[in-house]
Amino acid sequence: MDTRTGLPVVGMVGGGQLARMTHQAAIALGQSLRVLARTPEDGAALVAADVQYGEHTDLAALRTFAKGCDVVTFDHEQVPGEHIRALAADGVRLYPGADALRCAQDKAVMRQRLTELGAPVPRWQRIGSVDELAAFGAEVGWPVVVKAARGGYDGRGVWLLDTPDELAAVGLEPADPAVELIAEERVKLVRELAVQVARSPFGQLAVYPVVETVQRDGICVEVLAPAPALPQSRALAAQQLAIDLASALDVVGLLAVELFEVPGGGGLVVNELAMRPHNSGHWTIEGARTSQFEQHLRAVLDYPMGDTGLTAPAVVMANVLGGADGGMGIDERLHHLFATDPGAKVHLYGKQVRPGRKIGHVTVLGEDLADVRNRAARAARWLQEGR
Ligand code: ADP
Repeated sequence: MDTRTGLPVVGMVGGGQLARMTHQAAIALGQSLRVLARTPEDGAALVAADVQYGEHTDLAALRTFAKGCDVVTFDHEQVPGEHIRALAADGVRLYPGADALRCAQDKAVMRQRLTELGAPVPRWQRIGSVDELAAFGAEVGWPVVVKAARGGYDGRGVWLLDTPDELAAVGLEPADPAVELIAEERVKLVRELAVQVARSPFGQLAVYPVVETVQRDGICVEVLAPAPALPQSRALAAQQLAIDLASALDVVGLLAVELFEVPGGGGLVVNELAMRPHNSGHWTIEGARTSQFEQHLRAVLDYPMGDTGLTAPAVVMANVLGGADGGMGIDERLHHLFATDPGAKVHLYGKQVRPGRKIGHVTVLGEDLADVRNRAARAARWLQEGR
């Protein structure tokens, strides 16, 4: 409890852009997020007042951090499960808990749990040798998608292989106990969708409209809310699936369910789970009545959930990736962008620019999807390339 405000203290492990934007939402709730950052340059450390420094893999640092927090939550999924369990044994309240979080930390565990729950997943298998991969590929057909069970993000840790021999070519050695691999059938997807759902310890659930996520080179570049031309029955099925998974996995806080839409009557297949605010939900800051960041805070604080309704018929979020220098500084780019599109909402994360790195996002709201989409893409391009 913060005695100055009479409010509980929320600590977030990790100081990236998700913590930065959660801090922004915390301010409105009378809070100041307590952040465990790695360096003073971390996005959240640049803006939050209550920052401690330490590694998320260091149990002593986590213990010091958790002292005085009423609840601890996470900006990423990299805190080792045994540390979360040790803190829970100390009496720290952590959301999501270690058991739930495992399904977001390890793709093999996630696939296993989803299979047990009867959720729709691609055919998959743990791979311990080239022969096992060959047999799996012979069964489901090549190419096959191979994934590192742990540690991948933004498509790093995902390989599309045409033959079993390519496993060695991409530098993977299934006999190495440190790299656990899974193989999945390559889903012939129409497009990718995502659903955000929040769940509180009380068990209240609030689900957002289903969105379409557009990927390029394994990185999400655009999110369209609501997902255009999605039949209502399919949208409801996706929302129900997210609700059911949040409950079955005992998630507290935000759960993002990434889905593949498959052609014809094939319906939906779960790709991935994230148990935190997620890139596919950044549109909610302006595009929903309650942002995913506020919703995550409400959930971990066991407050009643906020309204998840859209604020406009069409909402598009475009990620800003570090681009070519182009000679024009970011300050000048902002001038040009705001002069030509006063309605574009910009979020920059305070990160050093590196090519391909997510350094911010823009959101545009409006009536007409094609128009909104053009404006969002244009705004992101201005910030990325200065043209
Ligand atoms: P990451 O955790 O790095 O984001 P994902 O497992 O989400 O990795 O995969 C990244 C991208 O690879 C997905 O967004 C999708 O475009 C593609 N992909 C992943 N799994 C499959 C699959 N089984 N079939 C077809 N495409 C896939």
